[in-house]
Amino acid sequence: MAKYHRDTETIHQGHKPDETYGAVSMPIILSTTFERGVEGQFLEGRDIYARSSNPNRRALESKLAALEGGSFAAAFSSGQAATMSIFHALGHGAHVILPDDIYYGTRVMIEILYQRWGLEYSTVDMTDPDLVRNSLKSNTRLIWIESPSNPALKITDIKGIVSLAKSKNILTACDNTWASSYFTQPLTLGVDLVMHSSTKYFGGHSDVTGGCVISNEALQQGLLIREFQTLGGAVPSAFDCWLLYRSLATYPLRMKVHSENALKLAQYLESHPGIEQVYYPGLKSNKYHALATRQMQGGYGGMLSILVKGGAKETLQLASHLKLITHATSLGGVESLVDHRQSAEGAHSMSPPNLLRVSVGIENIEDLIHDFEQALITI
Ligand code: PLP
Repeated sequence: MAKYHRDTETIHQGHKPDETYGAVSMPIILSTTFERGVEGQFLEGRDIYARSSNPNRRALESKLAALEGGSFAAAFSSGQAATMSIFHALGHGAHVILPDDIYYGTRVMIEILYQRWGLEYSTVDMTDPDLVRNSLKSNTRLIWIESPSNPALKITDIKGIVSLAKSKNILTACDNTWASSYFTQPLTLGVDLVMHSSTKYFGGHSDVTGGCVISNEALQQGLLIREFQTLGGAVPSAFDCWLLYRSLATYPLRMKVHSENALKLAQYLESHPGIEQVYYPGLKSNKYHALATRQMQGGYGGMLSILVKGGAKETLQLASHLKLITHATSLGGVESLVDHRQSAEGAHSMSPPNLLRVSVGIENIEDLIHDFEQALITI
């Protein structure tokens, strides 16, 4: 497909009305196997077996690649499976550098699953490039970036880390779930591999689990990301691909409102005496504001975290007194959620007891502010 604006590609990329029915919306092809030619050969343009490829996954992958500006995308059954495909690619004995503030599941995956395969790791405050430089080892193969990070919304200078990594021939990967490709395009900043939990903003409706890795085609061939997907079988179902494909049509509209709402809610919460601190890079008072303004385009995303005055008791009380906003984990859906990370993360948590993460939805902002207003009176 010719290059159109990204919001046009989110509607049109990957599917044309099909020849049999002229269906404007993409049909779901549930078949796990596909007819071969008379001589047993696989037919050009046809799929073979659904684990290897299927029409819905192909359409989804072409949309995902277009969104991130890559030439390759692999869709996975979850964000974690997508992350695994990258750590798996490093092989035995590699060292990786992780941000100290990182989605806890990534850290736990490395601690529990990959250390026994000889993967070494260091965690650093990635907002300080000198700390990253000092953590390099002779076997460092990958620097993993998360910006904004989860849950403290630290902003990493992606170009700075990429230039350090390139000078040492080290790969960079970016978990772009929180920023979303709408506000940050890591590939254009030089990152090698972009990973998403598509369970979040790509899905957007809290009803599908998925993940993806996007990069350029040549790079992925060396890393065997496609092989991890197809031989490892970490594939999403045709229906999940269809759901994601459909959700992406409204992605730019949703992202714009997530971000506008998040900024207004952050400004309101910052001025409230019951709140100790708001982490949101869109706030002028935020220490990453200047960098975020340079690096992110069109907004600062839909996620924020707050530190409530008091401890876990007051914070959980606030969460339970919200009437419109649900206390549940996950993020990126049209409905707003709050999440007390310490209780969600359990024994592995490094989150402060008074931290509440807010996934700001696309409801009317006045209703969201009012919900916090009435709940904050009660603590
Ligand atoms: N990365 C980030 C930043 C996340 O927030 C999550 C899930 O919360 C994941 C990765 C893992 O994604 P999934 O739950 O789809 O496996």
